[in-house]
Amino acid sequence: MRRKIVAGNWKMNNDLPRTQGLITDLKNAKKTSDAEVMIAPAYVNLYHAFEELRESDIEVIAQNMHFAENGAYTGEVSADMLKSVGISTVILGHSERRAYYNETDADLAKKVDMALSKKMEVVFCFGEELKDRQAGNHEAVVKSQIKNALFHLDADALKHIILAYEPVWAIGTGETATPEQAQEMHKAIRKMIADKYGDDTADNISILYGGSVKPNNAQEIFSNPDVDGGLIGGASLKADDFFAIVNAI
Ligand code: PEP
Repeated sequence: MRRKIVAGNWKMNNDLPRTQGLITDLKNAKKTSDAEVMIAPAYVNLYHAFEELRESDIEVIAQNMHFAENGAYTGEVSADMLKSVGISTVILGHSERRAYYNETDADLAKKVDMALSKKMEVVFCFGEELKDRQAGNHEAVVKSQIKNALFHLDADALKHIILAYEPVWAIGTGETATPEQAQEMHKAIRKMIADKYGDDTADNISILYGGSVKPNNAQEIFSNPDVDGGLIGGASLKADDFFAIVNAI
């Protein structure tokens, strides 16, 4: 049985008091599904969030990290730093990192390698832009992102990767991929994994969907056989909305 996961990406939202408030609300929320729950606060609040949630079944994860072990990279954070404050999962390749900080597939391959070498799990994000979908290139774009950043890994290493398909045109826009579009892409990704790594690996890898998932559309998206949960931006900033999504699995 592959893992069902709902992860909240808080992005650059929530100072310490708001982080404390949202964590209190999350602790009080009622969970009725068996999905694994993750939240990704900003770096400065990770340790606090980890300490607050260590007895809970909500995992605190990071939004990004650097590919180097350590050194002269002003403003950056390493895998060891994350591990030292209790974080063992990191989101890599988010479209905002790719677009605003020019992260390339080659950079991401190095980040993935560093994370795995530190025994971390990776939520690896990828997705096409609107122009790619309009040109009918969406599947090719997504496949090249996955191939370039992940296909140097062996099947054992791939067990520590959670995939997150996030069409860029659906992130923060209120525009969602239809359940059919999501299922079609997730199925194509799983087939691509099966062709390279075999059915067993493909059947066991979790593929999350991200892009304007809200309480009112989560169930329809999650009901697709190849959609194993979601990466949630805006709707993860309110505990009620986030748990409505968690409970939609
Ligand atoms: C995201 O940033 O990963 C995301 C899916 O955002 P939103 O849910 O706000 O579209």
